[in-house]
Formats: sequence, C-alpha cells, structure tokens
Amino acid sequence: ARHEARTAADQPAVTRDGVTLEVAANVADASEAEQAYEQGADGIGLMRSEFLFMARESAPTMEEQRAVYQAAIEAMHGRPVIIRTLDIGADKALSYLPLPAVANPALGTRGVRLLNAHGGLLDDQLRALLAVDAPERLRIMVPMVTDVTDLRAVRQRLEILAAERGITRLPALGVMIEVPAAALSAASLAREADFLSIGTNDLTQYTLAMDREDAVLAGRADVLHPAVLRLIAMTVEAARGEDCWVGVCGAAAGDPLAWAALAALGVNELSVEPARVAEIKAELRSLDLSALAKALPAWLTLDEARAVRSALGDWLANSN
Ligand code: PEP
Ligand code: MG
Repeated sequence: ARHEARTAADQPAVTRDGVTLEVAANVADASEAEQAYEQGADGIGLMRSEFLFMARESAPTMEEQRAVYQAAIEAMHGRPVIIRTLDIGADKALSYLPLPAVANPALGTRGVRLLNAHGGLLDDQLRALLAVDAPERLRIMVPMVTDVTDLRAVRQRLEILAAERGITRLPALGVMIEVPAAALSAASLAREADFLSIGTNDLTQYTLAMDREDAVLAGRADVLHPAVLRLIAMTVEAARGEDCWVGVCGAAAGDPLAWAALAALGVNELSVEPARVAEIKAELRSLDLSALAKALPAWLTLDEARAVRSALGDWLANSN
C-alpha cells in the first residue's frame, strides 16, 4: 500500500479538466529535500538557504555551501531545485553580521538589499551555486526584489563570477514577487527574470500593512484578501504575457482553500511543505480548474478576505 501511495503521489497533478500543475516543496536543507522527493514533489520550489547561515558563529565556507546545494540537487533525482539566495533581515538574524537597530526592520535592508550591500556574502554564495554540478536542474531565486535594479545587480555578479571561471552554462535566475511594487511591475520583471515565484507571506504582509508575526492581526492578514488576490492575478497575467513561468512558494500554496484560488489564477506551480505535497496533488486532481477560474473574478472585488474564504469554501464544497 505504501508503494501504491508513493506511486500515485509521484504522478503529475492533472486537474479534472486536464491542466497539469507542478507541486513542489519548500525546504530548509538537503534532508528535507529527501523527504520532499519521498512525498512525490515535482521539484523544490523554495530552498531557504538562510538556514545554512543561521545558528552558527561564522558564515559557511563556499565549499560547505556547495556541498549542501549539491546534496539538495542529488536528493531530487533530476527534478528542478530552486535555491533562494540568503534572505536575512527583519525576522531572521545572523550573529556574525550585526545589523544596525532600525525602527522598521521589515522595511529596511533585508533580503536582496542586504546581500547587494554585503558583496562578499553574495559572491561566496553565487560561487558555491556556480560550482554545483548539473546547472540545468538548479535555479537561483532572489528574495525581496522591489524592481529590476535588484535583479540586475545580482545577474551582473553572477555573470562576472561565471566568466572568471570560464562557465558558460548559467543556472536560471528568477525573482520572488513579495513586495507590492514587484507585483505591480511584474511585466518588467518577467522580461528580465527567467522565472517568478510569488511569496504570499510577505506579499500579504506588505499589501495589507499587517505584520506577519502579529498575533492580534493574524485573523485579518489573509492571502485571500481581494487586494492581495488582485496583485497575484496581475502578476500571473504579466508573466503569461512574457511567457515567463510563475510559481507560488508562500504558505498560501498549501492553505486548505487558497491553493485552489492560486491554481485558478493560472500559476504553473504550487510549492508547499513536504508533508502537504501528496494532499495538494490529490486536491488538484479533483478540481475543475476552468469552472473555478470562471467563478473567481467576481470574488476579487469583494470587501474582505472572509467573504472570499466563504465563497471559495462553498464553491469547493459544492463542486464535489
Ligand atoms: C514568502 O514571503 O511568502 C516566502 C515564501 O518567504 P519567507 O516566508 O521565507 O519570507
Ligand atoms: Mg518572504
């Protein structure tokens, strides 16, 4: 029975009306990538590389990093692996990289802003990623991008470091859409990036101006808020217009209801916790995607997330 379950989970997720979506996993390290493969993940949609840098006295060496990235690639047996460059600042800190205390760290020098300000850290990480064997399976993803200048700065370093090593085959370089400005400018990002992945945790936080860690606001900081959904819809449309692959790697991809809205908005991939992969694949297989895509636009102009949750919940309950 275990073998049969594994075989079913391993198959692609094709909706009732014949649309294939990739269901990938979010992981922190190579052992979680192994779990993801066991669960039938079609790839790694997000490897949060910062876990390799946290809870230690100094930054990992280039060789330590390369070994971890390589292990994640091997764990997925040929399936694509998206590794995110270091995303530090705001909720994540490094003891060996003291940052000045600022009033609003979530709006400060974090993510790609921090990495572009600490070129040594960025270069070491890019060198380690360039040293990975099988660059065709590796995709590099840049967090907290505001506009194309953030992407260009990383691409320039990547190209210089590759040229120094005589490397001609570069891994794909994509961006996270988690800042409202990036969603609003998704077309220009999609023109220059090799792929987009929507980070719904931060996109929700920044769109609604509600701290993702705030317990009082937790009930309202919901990805199904129509304003957030409209930014996601814009992002997907812009990506489509540029023939650019677009995934989702925030928690919404595995949310009991939101996964369906994201699928209906037309994303190519849902990246979820390894333990959710098989369930989300099974849910997708019973979904009539085009029927939901017809119902969805009316909900994008509702007043609040609660109303969308209830409309979507009713629709899914009645569709089975
Ligand atoms: C996100 O913001 O949705 C995301 C996937 O990144 P993190 O949760 O690591 O900030
Ligand atoms: Mg984020």
